[in-house]
Amino acid sequence: MSTCRLKFIQPIEGELFRFYVPSVSQPEFPHTVDLEFYKFNGGCDCPRFHFNCEPLLSRGADKAEHLRCGHIKDARSFFLDEILPKIADKIRHLAKPLPLVIQAQGIVTQIQQADPCQYPDHEKIADLLELKDHILATVDQIRDEIESARDPEKHEDAPSMAGSPEDMRYE
Ligand SMILES: [Zn+2]
Repeated sequence: MSTCRLKFIQPIEGELFRFYVPSVSQPEFPHTVDLEFYKFNGGCDCPRFHFNCEPLLSRGADKAEHLRCGHIKDARSFFLDEILPKIADKIRHLAKPLPLVIQAQGIVTQIQQADPCQYPDHEKIADLLELKDHILATVDQIRDEIESARDPEKHEDAPSMAGSPEDMRYE
């Protein structure tokens, strides 16, 4: 299938696996594809799927290439090319707060293991304040990631996270 057709596929807002896929014969009437239907075989509202594929799938046939119309195939390509890389990106960002959490745990251990006689109150307070900053930064970072995963449009123009001041802050 041509890349040019994929350009006209429209993700349905708020639906990770549903797409409007243009019809070749009537481009103004797109078909609705749901990639999750029939255990991720995918489903479509076009006649070919309805008459040739759906009867077998609804009787329990396993998912298969020949049980997919061109619209489902196009939507699957679109998902792999356009959506999956974005999901992979989000997952990598979500994994990032881990080092922060480990640093915070290090501070807790340090506080717990300190000899009370050698551990003046002002140092203890300084350590606790540092711990508080770590926790607040972690919470902010996780909140940002959740918001951007929920509403990718809002963050689309933001510069790439790699090497941004955001990253440096936690080094
Ligand atoms: Zn179809």
